[in-house]
Amino acid sequence: MSRLLGALEMGGTKMVCATGRANGEIVERVRIDTADPTSTLEACGTWFAERGVEALGVGAFGPTDVDPASPHFGCMLKTPKPGWSNIDVLGSLHSAIDVPVGYDTDVNAACLGEAVYGCARGLRDVLYLTIGTGVGAGVLVEGKLLHGAMHPEAGHIPLTRDPADPMPSGESACPFHTNCLEGLVCGPSLWKRWGDPVAAGVADDPGKVALIGGYLGQALAAFVLCYMPRKIIIGGGVGDHLPLLPPARAKLADVLNGYLVIPEMDDLDSYIVGNSLDGDQGILGCLELARRALGEN
Ligand code: ADP
Ligand code: ZN
Repeated sequence: MSRLLGALEMGGTKMVCATGRANGEIVERVRIDTADPTSTLEACGTWFAERGVEALGVGAFGPTDVDPASPHFGCMLKTPKPGWSNIDVLGSLHSAIDVPVGYDTDVNAACLGEAVYGCARGLRDVLYLTIGTGVGAGVLVEGKLLHGAMHPEAGHIPLTRDPADPMPSGESACPFHTNCLEGLVCGPSLWKRWGDPVAAGVADDPGKVALIGGYLGQALAAFVLCYMPRKIIIGGGVGDHLPLLPPARAKLADVLNGYLVIPEMDDLDSYIVGNSLDGDQGILGCLELARRALGEN
């Protein structure tokens, strides 16, 4: 029997703790509501310690320090989530369980999950974008998860406003930017324009879907040009429930205007896809982070 690994997917509303094996089998999982950091992380650490996992992989909401060389590795940075700024996540977990830990962002973990267990299996250049309460991108480049000076914050790239957008210019759902991807396509931006997107039937309204999908396509053009992924996967509550991919693919092709002659551009239906692991891409990526923390390749 292969070693028991622990996977922790940290979210703003819930923590998903799971045990599993390197082949992607999930053995057990539990959901712990995200409350104050001390009690939440203690509950998670204790759960893993009781199960005797040999390594832990953590996918954290950000912004967070993912640089192993930094004195603040494994700590939250300044975050809008009340009480969580500067919290030492890894330190808290370590006080309950002392095993090797792999630590990355939730979106990098999801990207890794798709690259190891999902539709991007075997690919070394993959971009995963979640469109939910916020927008975040995880990026695998030449087989390595991209970090740089912090970690990609590609949800905040600036876009050109669609004149048909009912949201007044100067307003968006991002407190920092009036025209960034997140501010224009995240769940709260839908609420700001139309109220409850489910009650408003946004998914069945071609004009509304085209507006949001168009913004997504603009952003994808920038991501393709900068990162050159071999596959792009879109997830998150908005990404999973709105049919954004057809208008996004069309906008991408329109923006690039025939400039890129890569085979991927000839088959946009398989280049830009929805998540393939039924929402488990994050937790499976955490499992892979745990496996890698044991030094296995
Ligand atoms: P989080 O980003 O917090 O991890 P999710 O990825 O589940 O969570 O995204 C939550 C967001 O998705 C909310 O803003 C919610 O309004 C939006 N959302 C969920 N379901 C739908 C839907 N059917 N249509 C449009 N938006 C949705
Ligand atoms: Zn922004």
